[in-house]
Amino acid sequence: MCYKTAVPELPQRASVVIIGGGFAGAATAWALRRAGVSDVIVLEREMALGRYASGRSAGLGRQLAEDDHTTALTVRGAQLIREMKGDVWRPTGGILSFDSAELADAYVERAQRFGVPVEVGDRAAVQGRWPVGELKIAKALYVASDGTIDVTQLLRELVKKTRVEVSCGVERIEPHRVITTKGAIEAQVIVDATGAWAGGLTGDEPLLLYKRHVFIIENESEPGPWLWHLGAGEMYMRHDGEGVLMSPCDAARSEPGHQEPDLVGEAHVRKLLEDAEMPLANAIITRRWACQRAFRPDRKMRLGRDDQRPWLVWAAGLGGHGATAAPAVGEAVAAAVVERLQSGQ
Ligand SMILES: Cc1cc2nc3c(=O)[nH]c(=O)nc-3n(C[C@H](O)[C@H](O)[C@H](O)COP(=O)(O)OP(=O)(O)OC[C@H]3O[C@@H](n4cnc5c(N)ncnc54)[C@H](O)[C@@H]3O)c2cc1C
Repeated sequence: MCYKTAVPELPQRASVVIIGGGFAGAATAWALRRAGVSDVIVLEREMALGRYASGRSAGLGRQLAEDDHTTALTVRGAQLIREMKGDVWRPTGGILSFDSAELADAYVERAQRFGVPVEVGDRAAVQGRWPVGELKIAKALYVASDGTIDVTQLLRELVKKTRVEVSCGVERIEPHRVITTKGAIEAQVIVDATGAWAGGLTGDEPLLLYKRHVFIIENESEPGPWLWHLGAGEMYMRHDGEGVLMSPCDAARSEPGHQEPDLVGEAHVRKLLEDAEMPLANAIITRRWACQRAFRPDRKMRLGRDDQRPWLVWAAGLGGHGATAAPAVGEAVAAAVVERLQSGQ
């Protein structure tokens, strides 16, 4: 006798089809559920979620970003992640250090505008926590409400109770219709949340993609605030169960899906550490990975309705803060979807 497990077939229609199961797509589904919209399906081309940027993120929950547009999303995103159950967010705090006092002051002003409390310190405040060697630090900010995100848990939490179809690549989209490797789905609204591939299905301008490496370096480190150094020699590091997680904040232009770690990335991290005469320079790298950050030329995320195509909504260009911003991205995109559903177009 042959027993078959019943796998529900791909529906022929849905109110909302979300293409892409990274933070952008998953958070949109999460926010739609909170808004009472349940006839939603997420389509992911890979066999599992998190094969690209979202599963490879370093998990720094940094609220003060490079500009106000992004900071509005990261502050709100962090607030929503903190409210999630379990260990999605660890309240570790974060330290931003700066090679220039002017840059630090601009961040202090941004923190005031967004109501994020910061403590201003100097190089000694950082040295007490991280072995920064001769790294040039003019000022540092301690952001107690920053944290560390478990990116796997966040992704899991966001898609909880949502129908997700994996191994289901979207090959083409037409007005109100998505053609996948498993069949076609009619949809009132289609969300492009395809990360590095955003715009490819609609023939829009591709995003700018920058490859970034992350390394685990063998070293003893204690749980506590992460460090993100801004200015020349940008880098960040945080405690990780296996050692120190570190990125040289590299940004080589690349094609969608190119995320193999390479020797240029490794040489970059070694040089940064050596130039700063940091003790970590001689430690062993035990793991390495890379992935892409996707930006629009103006570095603003593309969230919301498409001006020409009423059936299309964007959740794209999340750049380098998409983990922290995720639930706020979801809220913004879901609001546009709900507006489209209500307008009946
Ligand atoms: C190395 C690195 C470190 C980072 N560290 C941090 C950090 O510390 N803190 C932070 O806040 N942010 C961080 N980020 C940023 C964050 O990870 C990204 O902004 C976020 O993951 C982007 O999510 P996304 O959903 O847009 O893209 P992705 O995660 O790439 O998701 C897009 C999905 O769409 C799928 N897809 C594409 N085309 C199709 C198709 N045709 N059909 C079906 N599915 C399709 C892909 O398979 C993919 O799973 C980091 C990014 C990188 C690269």
